[in-house]
Amino acid sequence: MDRKLISIVVPCYNEELTVEKFYNETVRVFEGYKHDIEIIFVDDGSKDATYQIICNLANKDARVKGLSFSRNFGHQSAIICGFEHAKGDAIVELDCDLQDPLETVLEMVDKWEEGYQVIHGRRVKRKGESLFKKASASIYYALLNKITKRPVPRNTGDFKLYDRVALNTLLNLPERDKYIRGLASWIGFKQTFVDFERKERFAGETKYTLKKMLRLAWDGITSFSVRPLRMLCVMGALAVLVSVIMAIYTLVSHFIGSTVSGWSSLMISIWFLGGLNLLALGIVGEYIGKIYGEVKDRPRFIVEQTKGLN
Ligand code: UDP
Ligand code: MG
Repeated sequence: MDRKLISIVVPCYNEELTVEKFYNETVRVFEGYKHDIEIIFVDDGSKDATYQIICNLANKDARVKGLSFSRNFGHQSAIICGFEHAKGDAIVELDCDLQDPLETVLEMVDKWEEGYQVIHGRRVKRKGESLFKKASASIYYALLNKITKRPVPRNTGDFKLYDRVALNTLLNLPERDKYIRGLASWIGFKQTFVDFERKERFAGETKYTLKKMLRLAWDGITSFSVRPLRMLCVMGALAVLVSVIMAIYTLVSHFIGSTVSGWSSLMISIWFLGGLNLLALGIVGEYIGKIYGEVKDRPRFIVEQTKGLN
């Protein structure tokens, strides 16, 4: 088999403690490898010496490329930027902190050579991560898979290898705000998994603050589902239903004479108007959901091959 180019995309945010070690490890693992590599470091607006270190590495090794953001735009944006600059026949994304093992990339490349086009890294163990992180991730993905049509495969993150065709498809999707780990599975093609043990971050702290994690979690739900909007309708309808029951109850109490004056009319209006409000919001939400779908302009299908057409 002829030599191919594997692009390794690495988003870095305040990673001065890890970048160089990551580079050294990569060089070690790919020493004498059957394919060539390039390493694309995307500095996501670090405030420390990360970019300086990347530049030093690029000066001594032409396989290293560096990009630096004007400010912190977030992990997902850094990944997309790296993908856009990758020239490889296969492209793999992994974190700078060596939590995603480089040896697993070798297995992914083998799968790619078997013909798979999206290869998900699947964590079978997570070391050194808090119970909270593990539990919240597990609950969140169960929820996401319940309410969205195209689930994110369990125990996978952004550590994946893409074939050039699959990556171009992902990059060419018109939507601007891409929830990469969801779309990777949504685009289809031949997909498979490679299991790995998630190691401990070897230096530095997690750069995923709770706020960033919640943001990503909410992005995942809202870019794959309009159910939260639809739920308003259901809640509204339920409230209107309750209002009818409340009306009967209130009127009965009123005629039995066991109420303070004004209570009955207040109770009926609160329930009825509240329900009506929610219902109206839900209906508006339905339309917004439709507009949202149109604006995302996600293709209805992706044709992989054709025959006899032209
Ligand atoms: N990262 C980034 N921008 C951010 C936050 C994180 O580019 O705003 C990078 C970070 O440098 C690392 C990767 O994304 O290479 C994953 O982050 P981290 O290891 O902190 O997350 P965790 O593994 O704890 O979920
Ligand atoms: Mg990490």
